[in-house]
Amino acid sequence: MDEWPQILRGSLRTPEEIAARFGLDVDEVRKVARVFKVQITPYYANLIKHKGDPIYRQIVPDKAELKGNSGVADPLLEDQNSPVPSIVHRYPDRLLFLVSHSCASYCRFCTRKRKVGDPSKIHPRYIEDGLDYIRAHTEIRDVIVSGGDPLMLSDDRLEYILASLRAIPHLEILRVGTRVPCFLPQRVTPKLAAMLKKFHPLYVNVHFNHPDELTPEANAALGLLADAGIPLGCQTVLLKGVNDDPLVMRRLMQKLLCARVRPYYIYQTDFVQGTDHLRTSVEKGIEIMDALRGWTSGLAVPYFVIDAPGGGGKIPVLPKYIQTMNDDQVVMRNFQNEMYAYPQVQPAANGNGNGKKKSRKEKQPYVDPCFGVTNAPPIG
Ligand SMILES: *Cc1c(COP(=O)(O)O)cnc(C)c1O
Repeated sequence: MDEWPQILRGSLRTPEEIAARFGLDVDEVRKVARVFKVQITPYYANLIKHKGDPIYRQIVPDKAELKGNSGVADPLLEDQNSPVPSIVHRYPDRLLFLVSHSCASYCRFCTRKRKVGDPSKIHPRYIEDGLDYIRAHTEIRDVIVSGGDPLMLSDDRLEYILASLRAIPHLEILRVGTRVPCFLPQRVTPKLAAMLKKFHPLYVNVHFNHPDELTPEANAALGLLADAGIPLGCQTVLLKGVNDDPLVMRRLMQKLLCARVRPYYIYQTDFVQGTDHLRTSVEKGIEIMDALRGWTSGLAVPYFVIDAPGGGGKIPVLPKYIQTMNDDQVVMRNFQNEMYAYPQVQPAANGNGNGKKKSRKEKQPYVDPCFGVTNAPPIG
């Protein structure tokens, strides 16, 4: 018998349980829980060392979720890019497929706070519509199975979905996005890993935000997935009072590599209703990137991205390395703030250039690496 269903059943769910466990006012917890789903696995609750610590802030409901909110319910306009309820289709060749409404625990900063935990919004009956949509859209080559958390489904149900996707000839890669290895690592069993392995090339993106989350249990879960040949990435959210510190973030990235997880993205916290108390400045994210590149393994350096409000997609944000750039040279600073110059290639003196320098400002046509020169990439 797997131990995880029993661990999950022991989760803190009711305002009474949560208020008693953390010494909170039960009415306040009730008010938050009426608006946003609350649940904490006992495993994750046990990682809390004291009130207000980085684990606590991610998961224990806070009355700040209800007030002073500048954020909006659906900042990424996902619902407007949703041709059927289980699909978010924003990019030319890939989409999100929402297959599970539930999570093992509910992040207080969730970008899908408006829907997670609500079976009427992410419902099993939409899965067939989603599969039909993907079958009909032959430009899709990459499906990100998400939710909620797909690993909250039974092995059989998840296998049905993955097998249905694998049977679609135009799909090249499958991805699963999950926070289960962090919240409920016991759910990752040898049986689950053996099932996932049948659907290669399959990638799993996990979600860890603090080095203390990489416990022996979490490392074991990640090891099972890695041993099944699954490339693992991590999507971390930059959060105030959790990981808004270059040394904490550097340690997290290094510990992920030890668990065979390649850091993929650090997200600026989305502009979501009820998350102001967890958002920090974009400058902080840039400072963190500056403290990673060069100072530790390049493998430990993810992209820092802002998922643009209004549905613009993920936009990378980098520290400013280039100081000046002209036809002669590019002047850059390195990670230690020392200046270096790279000489540009010069047109041959008597070459085909007719002695005329090509302006670098000329607008280039969009070149798709697979399909050659096209106009702007098609969407939808
Ligand atoms: C994040 C996201 C993806 C995947 O983006 P990648 O940069 O390829 O990881 C796809 N669709 C939507 C709607 C997304 O938000």
